[in-house]
Parts: sequence; C-alpha cells; structure tokens
Amino acid sequence: MDRIDILSLTLDELTEEILKMGEKKFRAKQIFDWLHCKQAVSFSEMSNISSSLSTKLEEKFCIKNLIVVRKLESLIDNTVKYLYELDDGNHIESVLMDYKHGNSLCISTQVGCKMGCKFCASTIAGFKRNLLPSEMLGQVYAAERNSGRHVDSIVLMGIGEPLDNFDNVVRFLQLLSCEEGRNMSLRHVSLSTCGLVDRIYDLAELRMGLTLSVSLHASSDEKRSEIMPVNKRYSIGELMTACRDYMDKTGRRISFEYAVIKGVNDGKQDADGLIRLLKGMNCHLNLIPVNEIKERDFKADRNSLSAFSDYLSQKGINVTVRRTLGADINAACGQLRREYEI
Ligand code: SAH
Repeated sequence: MDRIDILSLTLDELTEEILKMGEKKFRAKQIFDWLHCKQAVSFSEMSNISSSLSTKLEEKFCIKNLIVVRKLESLIDNTVKYLYELDDGNHIESVLMDYKHGNSLCISTQVGCKMGCKFCASTIAGFKRNLLPSEMLGQVYAAERNSGRHVDSIVLMGIGEPLDNFDNVVRFLQLLSCEEGRNMSLRHVSLSTCGLVDRIYDLAELRMGLTLSVSLHASSDEKRSEIMPVNKRYSIGELMTACRDYMDKTGRRISFEYAVIKGVNDGKQDADGLIRLLKGMNCHLNLIPVNEIKERDFKADRNSLSAFSDYLSQKGINVTVRRTLGADINAACGQLRREYEI
C-alpha cells in the first residue's frame, strides 16, 4: 500500500489518522508542528516522539522532500534560482527574490503547462502532471532550509497554470495559512493566471484574500488569441467580467501582467485598447519586458517599453515597469528546467 503524503494533510485529517493508529490527539499537533514550523524532513528528528511511534509513522506516511539538483545565484541582486527533483524524477523550478519588503518566492504549480502561450518557455514541452500540495509547500520549505532566508511572500508564477490545478492549489493555500502550521497570511500571496474564467469565479467564492494577477498581454481578442490560446476559450470581455466579480467579492485589487513584445503588442492601438479596458478600474498594470527565450524570436525593446508606459501613465492608468531580477541566471520561468531536461 502506498504511504500517505503527510505534508498534504490538513491538521484535522492528520488528527484523524493519528487517532486511527490508537495514539493521542495531541500527537497530531506535535507532528504538524515538526512538519510545518520546524520543517523536519524525517520522523526520526522529531525529538518529542518516541522511536517506536516514529517507526510506525514511517511505515504509514511519507514526507515528500524536494532535492535541489541545481542552484544558480545571481551576482547582481541576490536572486537564487532552484531546480528541484521530485520523487518521480520530474523537475520544477522556484526563484527566490530579494525585495525591499522581504524575500519573495516564485513557485511552480504544475510540471509543464497545457496553456500554450507563445512566448512562454514552460509550455514548450507540454504538460506532465499537477503538483501535489506537499510539492508546492516543499518548494517553500526547501528554499528556506537551503538559503537560510525567511520567505515573506509567495507568488504562484512559476511553471504551470495554478487555476488548472485548482483543488491542490487551494489546499496548498489552506496549509500555508494554517495557524498551527506555517501561518502565512494570504495577503502575502499572489496567484497568477492566464485567465481560466470559470475558476476565477470559483476562487472568488472562497474569499481567501489573496491577490489575483491576470496575464493579459494583449488588449484585443484577435491579438490575444494569437499569442494566448486560452483566449479562444474565454474572451477578454468574459475575463474582465470575472475580474470585476473577483474584486467585488474579495475587496482585493487585481494586478494585470503585460509582457511587452517589440512590434507585437507595443503600439498605440494596443495602449489605447488597454486604456479602454482598465480605465476607472481599481487595478494595477505591471509591464514586463518580454524575457527572450531561445525557442522563439519575441524581442524586448526598452525604448518602446518606456514610451508605452509613459503614454499609459499620462492617460491615468496605474502602471509600473517590473524590475528585472536575476538577469544573469536566466531567472524567467521554465528556462532552467528546459536546459536541464534536454
Ligand atoms: N500560468 C500562469 C502563471 C505562470 S506564468 C499565468 O499565465 O499567469 C507567470 C507569468 O510570466 C505570466 O504573466 C506569464 O504570462 C509570464 N511570462 C511567461 N513567459 C514570459 C516571457 N518569456 N517573458 C515575460 N513574461 C512571461
């Protein structure tokens, strides 16, 4: 029989399992504390658990550990990029970034991605599988252990589409914010989606208080469908309606992501389209110089990017240009995994 993935269990579920073993309820809390606060990687290091119980736990449960197979450290800005190996031999990435307000970790939610965005390295080799809640938590715990730095905020912006792995992502968020565990406020978590409209409605219903980032990248359906196939399923109009619903239900402002690509989406028409979509909305627009990947010939252009940004700003859009971090270590999502697996 497969052992139970203990890091994916809520405290209530763990308590139930511990009671089934004939143990006292408080043991579950102790074990949960070892796993999520002390970040133990084995039962034997749980010093207030007897060795006979530790052996029984070992037979029934497994603690999924992520192995760091590569670590790239930026010499310019403290960014660290991790390539992890999962227990089935698959690889995923996380990026630890040093901001003024603390350390932020960008984590993956799937092995590969089905969404097919034309500019993205994570989707080129297709989709392999969803990550388990324990494998998302594992990225946080392994980065903290390895770097000795405390992760203050998390962005679900690595490999994969988080809303395409909805149940596991929600469970991960519940575990991450559990008071008896890691106790991270979901105010410090952002989830980025390419726009799975039905799931945005589902997420709004849960009122979890996290920030939603929406990858827009174009302001007309024609152009967006060309670079983001998901737009053929859900139009920009449907997406914006879902975003408004999210804001109404959660009271949270939405952040829109827009990778500026030379000659593709950086013209006046594109900017005017953005103004029509976003004007008057309580939102924030984040412009990103497109990260050039070797499989595609999308180019960034700093001059056109700043002109694009200035124009939007003059027209009253709340816009910023995202600082590039880890430029010397190829920190954009999916690139390290691709290099390693080829
Ligand atoms: N699937 C989710 C989250 C992962 S991608 C989403 O689409 O939002 C994280 C962000 O990086 C998204 O905004 C995505 O569009 C952007 N991105 C992907 N490839 C990029 C590239 N080459 N340059 C700039 N941004 C890119």
